[in-house]
Amino acid sequence: YHVLDRRPLEIFLAQPRGFCAGVVRAIEIVERALERYGAPVYVRHEIVHNKYVVESLKAKGAIFVEELSEVPPNAMTVFSAHGVARSVEEEAATRGLPVLDATCPLVTKVHNQGKRYMSKGRKVILIGHAGHPEVDGTMGQVPGPVYLVQSVEDVKVLTLPPQDPVAYITQTTLSVDDTKDIILALEQRFSDIEGPDTRDICYATQNRQSAVRDLSKLVDVILVVGATNSSNSNRLREIGTEVGVASYLIADGSELNPAWLKDARAVGITAGASAPEVLVDDVIETLRRIGPVAVSVLPGREENIEFKLPADLTAV
Ligand code: SF4
Repeated sequence: YHVLDRRPLEIFLAQPRGFCAGVVRAIEIVERALERYGAPVYVRHEIVHNKYVVESLKAKGAIFVEELSEVPPNAMTVFSAHGVARSVEEEAATRGLPVLDATCPLVTKVHNQGKRYMSKGRKVILIGHAGHPEVDGTMGQVPGPVYLVQSVEDVKVLTLPPQDPVAYITQTTLSVDDTKDIILALEQRFSDIEGPDTRDICYATQNRQSAVRDLSKLVDVILVVGATNSSNSNRLREIGTEVGVASYLIADGSELNPAWLKDARAVGITAGASAPEVLVDDVIETLRRIGPVAVSVLPGREENIEFKLPADLTAV
């Protein structure tokens, strides 16, 4: 599509993009567990939602399972970054499995908020997507019924009486705008409602979302590198689409369709919090094979957040 008399295709990379502190920590937990205890290490659910990451860890000796019943007795077990329900923790404890918990500390924070609201006698409403493992984990961590809402429509059909004391918590990887509307609808419906001081969309989600907004002002097409089951990657693609830029979610360069770039002068690339930078490089390489490119990185917010590893892995 890029003939010789055309200027090179401009590529802008969003900043920040890709790995967040929770993902870095989760992957490091599996790697260190493999070094310290030897293979195999069992990981319940994809450690983070990215096939490349999962395959790399498999090659080093990690075995991924969906249920604890698939873990043999005494085998080292890692819980994924998304968190787990109490029932899963209890099952591991009953079986005496050695566990390393890679739940992101920001997800744990949401669990704790939910528990605190519940203990204050409030009904807890979780804003999130049904079926996502983080949502299953949070619903299973907060004792008592948790009411899940995914949209403003869901708020309308909640069966709770409007004078009941309620509180909301949110999945960490939603779009800031989506939750804003839902929270507004909740506040209109319930007279006694509390929510966390700062909303629980995590810092990494917020930063990646504002970076993709900045990116959208400069480009004709947005490529989001991430897995189809990655919540935060899907939100990035949605934000691009909402502001009117054709946006595509791709796992790597092989999924790029050159027809998307027809007439495009500038392409923006970002990556979900679970997508490694090598996959961004792969997309750039694929674009380079189509025609000449000029790559620049946008200025953006600097991130220097790091989460501590579990003590079991750092003790000497
Ligand atoms: Fe934690 Fe946010 Fe990363 Fe999820 S996206 S793992 S909540 S830092």
